[in-house]
Amino acid sequence: MTGRAKILIVEDEPAILQGLMDVFVFHGYAVDSAIDGKIGLEKALNNDYDLILLDVMLPFVDGFSICNKIREKDVQQPVIMLTAKSSEQDIITGLTLGADDYISKPFSVRELVLRVECVLKRSQKRVEQVAIMHIGNIRIDTANLQQLDTENPQQFTRREIEILHYLQQHAARPVPREELLEKVWGYRQAENIETRTVDIHIAKLRRKVEVDSKKPQYLLTIRGEGYRTLKQGAKVEFDLSETDKGFQAEDVGEV
Ligand code: CA
Repeated sequence: MTGRAKILIVEDEPAILQGLMDVFVFHGYAVDSAIDGKIGLEKALNNDYDLILLDVMLPFVDGFSICNKIREKDVQQPVIMLTAKSSEQDIITGLTLGADDYISKPFSVRELVLRVECVLKRSQKRVEQVAIMHIGNIRIDTANLQQLDTENPQQFTRREIEILHYLQQHAARPVPREELLEKVWGYRQAENIETRTVDIHIAKLRRKVEVDSKKPQYLLTIRGEGYRTLKQGAKVEFDLSETDKGFQAEDVGEV
């Protein structure tokens, strides 16, 4: 990275905000801060940051609304959401709005710094991808992260495109969740990181690309092994009733 990466931290708890600023200054980042949602939104839209760290519960404007506004302006802006530990719904909402990652409070500083590094690394080498991606019956414009050929196109996040891309590149075999965390998320030692985040992303993707997300035909769960896509035109050669008894799309609730 040329120069120091610049991070905006939006957090309304003064002690947490100060702690986060200290951590990232210590790790060599240039840090800007906002103590409420209004200031955070203003700074996020009017300055350039390499990454924005965004609390969910904020005075005036909540983190989801800020994330939404950021995405309207820039689909590529790296964003990490800080969510409440117990709130899976927060995690799903944040990822649906296009956050690159989330971290649950209370978080370990080491894990937070690791995740920030990973998101920054990915955003630097981003998008050597094909321009148009086919999955199932739909085509996706990967530059605009949007479905083609329809009046009401599905929006995709960059991460979702990268998951599809990786699965398609390795369509000859099932891809373990840990491998996705390493190759797509960029986590080292992914075996120590919970794999639920992969399942949540796959469930969201199924709703976008499958005719019936409960009976996936293109994004398959291979029990005990991981996830797999089929090569374009390939037929399902294994028993689907045996492959999708693990994580189900409806487990994550409506988003
Ligand atoms: Ca808060």
